[in-house]
Amino acid sequence: MKKMYLGKLVLHWCPQCNLPVLGETCACGCSTQKVNITPPGDIRPAFNYDIDYINNTAIEMFGAPLIATGKIAILNKVPSDDRMEEIIVDGAALANIRFVIESKKWVLLTRMEGAVRLFPGKDKRSKWVMIDASAVGPISGGASTLAPGVIDADPEIVPGDEVVVEGKKSGNPEVYLIEKIIARRIITIKMPTDKQYLSHLKENTKIHNGDAQVLALASELYGIALLDDEEARGMAEIEGIEHHGTIYLLLRMKKMGLLTKEETIDGLNEMLHKGWRCSTELYAEILKKLTI
Ligand SMILES: [Zn+2]
Repeated sequence: MKKMYLGKLVLHWCPQCNLPVLGETCACGCSTQKVNITPPGDIRPAFNYDIDYINNTAIEMFGAPLIATGKIAILNKVPSDDRMEEIIVDGAALANIRFVIESKKWVLLTRMEGAVRLFPGKDKRSKWVMIDASAVGPISGGASTLAPGVIDADPEIVPGDEVVVEGKKSGNPEVYLIEKIIARRIITIKMPTDKQYLSHLKENTKIHNGDAQVLALASELYGIALLDDEEARGMAEIEGIEHHGTIYLLLRMKKMGLLTKEETIDGLNEMLHKGWRCSTELYAEILKKLTI
């Protein structure tokens, strides 16, 4: 039986207490703000269990949790074939979370409000326009910001607003570097064509999608697969695909004279600092190779 509502169920939020309120006035005496939610408005509080699976999904998909510790979240059931709920935090709908029956997995469909929280650094600012790294140079030199260079922007911007233009930022400095070397065609992006072989590789569920594609492409081009993942390297062995890791690249660049000994050691230490692990024997062996 469908649920029935007597009149409209309208969710409000108290800006003072940062709490959900059903009426137009909060217990603190403040006027509340109406929260725009997807009708009909079948709301419930999110329990720890809900927050856990939402944050786990966000971490898996975007590398960061959606709901900060201690925040109160409201879930609004959204009419859909699958189970889907709208996630409301701080008086705003951040995202929908949907359970996809075929994959038996939760998928987060973020709104701008949610995206801002997933990519921290922008959340406390407003009127921002995010531009692509390739547009930073010309704009710094006085060029106008044109639509093709804009990646993202504050949804509150209205014509005539002053805005803050930001260059693309990322926790990983290599993202910026990789973009530059793709732009200069030092490396190009190529997809494997043998889909059958790709799906054969993907039968091993421990192999990440990206690694499976690298393996398939290396096999097609009789090339070398660059892999750091243990499972993927094992798979390369089984499939007879030549493979190396990041250390190989570092040492090879050193051998080619592209890196000094100090830069190579710095690179190695940076990798260790970011969580790459190797045995002390391997570390000693690498250092020994460096001195030759
Ligand atoms: Zn209040």
